[in-house]
Amino acid sequence: TVTVIGSINMDTTLRLTKMPKPGETMHAHEIFHAGGGKGANQAVAAKRSGARTSFIGGVGTDSEGQQLLDLLTKENIDTSGIAEIEGAATGQAMIMVDAAGENSILIHAGANNAFHEQEVRKNKELITNSDFIIAQFESSLDATILAFSIAKNAGKTTILNPAPARETIPTELLEKTDIIIPNETETEIITGIRVTDHDSLVAAAEKMHELGIGTVIITLGSAGAFYHTEKEHGIVPAFKVDAVDTTAAGDTFIGALSSTLLPDLGNLKEAILYGNLASSIAVQSYGAQPSIPYREALEQSAVI
Ligand code: ADP
Repeated sequence: TVTVIGSINMDTTLRLTKMPKPGETMHAHEIFHAGGGKGANQAVAAKRSGARTSFIGGVGTDSEGQQLLDLLTKENIDTSGIAEIEGAATGQAMIMVDAAGENSILIHAGANNAFHEQEVRKNKELITNSDFIIAQFESSLDATILAFSIAKNAGKTTILNPAPARETIPTELLEKTDIIIPNETETEIITGIRVTDHDSLVAAAEKMHELGIGTVIITLGSAGAFYHTEKEHGIVPAFKVDAVDTTAAGDTFIGALSSTLLPDLGNLKEAILYGNLASSIAVQSYGAQPSIPYREALEQSAVI
């Protein structure tokens, strides 16, 4: 069982040939709306890849909030931990994707920042009944820290996706983090080390171990993912695919990995391979949640 605590947004994706410059007006040739937010995306990925999943977060009392609740309910995700917060607007993201598949994202966090410790306390059982608790930095930090302490007190495994990046991560959160999963940019911001080769990856991972985290997984885009624990390290290469939109690649990776990882982390490499596979499917279609694959698609692929 996986519980994700974090952000939930209504995404508006606009497809354009190239990104507008400041002061420039441009036309988008396609627009669509879908569920998003790193937290909700990770929950959808965990559920679609096969885990029992619950989500803890906040939406507004507006129509977007209701639509997002309906979307997660349709996925059979436990939404009892979602607070409907009076006076807060549901989080929204505007995502621009250019012809090369690069994206630029603008977020209004709204209810994601209006969700605090008291809502976490109400959902203690969701946390203590889960094997893995996953959090990001797109919602209130106090809520995340409390969720991780409840998880650790109950002997559960915590996974931190430090995105969007923060230069300093509070010690109280680091000491409660078992697994950290940053991408290359986040790794550089946390450690000050630009990861360009094997040695720099090892150095960055060691720096994160020094912060108190036992397992480090650095996602490397089309190069796959690097893992580093006390016992072993290496790269699990990505699948070679034609990427059209990398939105939610990292979220899909994390959700899929957590859905198959054993609580003792004994199958770490296999779980990373599963994460690589799920995200390689996600980057081949547009949008965040619409592109996240279901277990059947993962099973049909010959490699697993
Ligand atoms: P984020 O989306 O958080 O920036 P990454 O870009 O590192 O994260 O991607 C996360 C994972 O998605 C990678 O570890 C890899 O498995 C997969 N992935 C990303 N881009 C590609 C790509 N172009 N081809 C194949 N797999 C990809």
